[in-house]
Amino acid sequence: MNFQELDKKYIAGTYNRFPIEIVRGKGSIVYDIEGKRYIDMGSGIGVTAFGIADDEWKKAVTDQLDKVQHMSNLYYTMPDIELAKILCEKSGMKKVFFGNSGAEANECAVKLARKYSAEKKGEDCYTIVSLKNSFHGRTLTTLAATGQDNFHKLFKPLTPGFETVSSSDANELYQLAEKTKIAGILIECIQGEGGVNALDKDFVEAIYKFANENDIPFMVDEVQSGNGRSGFFYSYMNYEIKPDAVTTAKGLGGGLPIGACLMGEKLQNVLGPGDHGSTFGGNPVVCAGAINLVNRIDDKLLAEVREKSVYIFSELQNAKGVESVSGAGLMIGIKTEKKASDLIKKCMEKGVLCLSAKDKIRLLPALNIPMPLLTEAVDIIKQVCAEEV
Ligand SMILES: *Cc1c(COP(=O)(O)O)cnc(C)c1O
Repeated sequence: MNFQELDKKYIAGTYNRFPIEIVRGKGSIVYDIEGKRYIDMGSGIGVTAFGIADDEWKKAVTDQLDKVQHMSNLYYTMPDIELAKILCEKSGMKKVFFGNSGAEANECAVKLARKYSAEKKGEDCYTIVSLKNSFHGRTLTTLAATGQDNFHKLFKPLTPGFETVSSSDANELYQLAEKTKIAGILIECIQGEGGVNALDKDFVEAIYKFANENDIPFMVDEVQSGNGRSGFFYSYMNYEIKPDAVTTAKGLGGGLPIGACLMGEKLQNVLGPGDHGSTFGGNPVVCAGAINLVNRIDDKLLAEVREKSVYIFSELQNAKGVESVSGAGLMIGIKTEKKASDLIKKCMEKGVLCLSAKDKIRLLPALNIPMPLLTEAVDIIKQVCAEEV
């Protein structure tokens, strides 16, 4: 049997995969089993933030592997402490809980908000509000927070106590608050899976102000947009807000699983011993790699991300076959005249790997993708959108 037949036989059928088997790569180039070269414009859905097999990250990971790979959270190890310190210094947050995925980071945020509000306002204050068109994960709780019904079908009942409101009109939140006690608000400043839409600044700042005035924990999901992806260390830093919790994952581990829930002033002491935990959380090998990456997301790199973003926007915005370009930094959505899924297949045939989000082509290249590769990929995407190939 070939890889596709074996996969079909043994792997749960939850993924529609492209018919190529990737066997190796370096930086923003990957090769399939037949030796065909691709420019990787998806970086494992925004995970391999410094590309494939990055030397510095590999060294940090293997050095730690030679020391100790896991001890559980019963003992102290330094990498998670050091990583938490750097994340707090970069964000102004106060404490960090480490898990293994974006969904887990959001589960932690929900528990934080629920406990904070239960203690402050009573146990009937439990409703978590998220936004329409959002994506927060696949567990039953994070599905409940996800404002897209197509993910919910046949999995009900989801965790109760979740409501969604408009992602552009703050009045929906104000109206909900008249009849429901709100324990927390969870938003993505740039909705990734929902079509790479950066939320309006006035809207975000209005609901943040409302949350602040009413002592409602305000939580930002930076699982996809975080760690430099948006051209800021976290995407909320481009808004006039100071979240009470920030969740992040994808790009943080550079390809190894990690999730983190960063807690601000208000929430930093809410969870005590026994309130939450994770066997693998804060794994020293993953954290050692993450320390290396996070230290490299400095002002210079962020400026480069923003410059590359300007380049992509300017090349694609008025290109033939392109209706509009959305997003921020190296988190880009392209609305095309032709069906995006067909164009993504064509790009793959031409040696460029792209993602989709709703009806758009989505690009999440490595933050350090070299300009010549970015230019090569954008040219091919342009040709494919214009149907010149
Ligand atoms: C991917 C994603 C998640 C879920 O992350 P997992 O690691 O797959 O659990 C949550 N929120 C956002 C915004 C995401 O993009």
